[in-house]
Amino acid sequence: MLSTGFDKREGKIWMDGQLVNWQDSKVHILNHGLHYATSVFEGIRVYNGVPFKLKEHIDRLMHSAVTLGFVLKYSVEDLINATHAVIETNRISNGYIRPIAWLGSESMIIDGAGCAVHFAVAGWQSFEDARSAMREVGARLIVSKWRKPSMDAALHSTKASAIYSMSYMVKNEAKKLGYDDGLMLDGESNITEASTSNFFAIYGEVLRTPVPGCFLNGITRQTIIDIAKQKGIDVEEVDFKVEDLRTADAAFLTGTAIEVMPVQCVSGMRFDINHSMIKLLSEEYRIRASSR
Ligand code: PMP
Repeated sequence: MLSTGFDKREGKIWMDGQLVNWQDSKVHILNHGLHYATSVFEGIRVYNGVPFKLKEHIDRLMHSAVTLGFVLKYSVEDLINATHAVIETNRISNGYIRPIAWLGSESMIIDGAGCAVHFAVAGWQSFEDARSAMREVGARLIVSKWRKPSMDAALHSTKASAIYSMSYMVKNEAKKLGYDDGLMLDGESNITEASTSNFFAIYGEVLRTPVPGCFLNGITRQTIIDIAKQKGIDVEEVDFKVEDLRTADAAFLTGTAIEVMPVQCVSGMRFDINHSMIKLLSEEYRIRASSR
């Protein structure tokens, strides 16, 4: 069932330097970004009116844009100001911000030469949290049949829309099988990440997470590693495989949207979703995210 579309909402969206009415923020069907995924985006959570890790997200947006060869029309500061304007004008206390940059309609040739680079920042109140139900029972994961492209596919450190067709496939593969998400392996069968989140496993007192190579080194992942180290937890960034999960006590996913999400099972292996380390890390994360 389709819910009321995002295009039908009310409010303002910052588009190429101006706040425009929500329903007027339109692009043409012959748009380079739409056809060839020449676009990059971010996802930011707002807690108590404050966007968490805003500078880090905008820096990553710029890194993604530069990786695609986009000419930057705005500075980091401009986009930070645009984000604050969107939060203020839409009165967002707890919500979600979606900045995006894309190539326009000036050319449909693949090199995009002559295409304008557009920037927009949208944001909305009450980030729908279908995830709170999942948090109670933990995410049920499969191992996806889709493998990560190798390290030399330069887009892994970006949020380029182009790589999200894979996340889309992985998520839908899992859903069709009755699961919540899929873990992707690399070419050597090492665990990488889930469709839109990073992966951690707990072994006794040790927190283990894959070495970022052919997957996004998430801002939440980095925050969790930082919190864990501050709490004196041993953090191992190593390559490991699905069979190594047999001896894990617990596992969880991290991401801006899902925060810290306990994992109930991976391919039938079950884990402790109430593990004390998960509780400690998720509580500390919430405290950091919500403090002004
Ligand atoms: N991997 C992918 C593919 C993602 O889309 C996300 C969400 N941005 C993450 C990991 C987690 O990143 P972050 O913690 O920065 O949200």
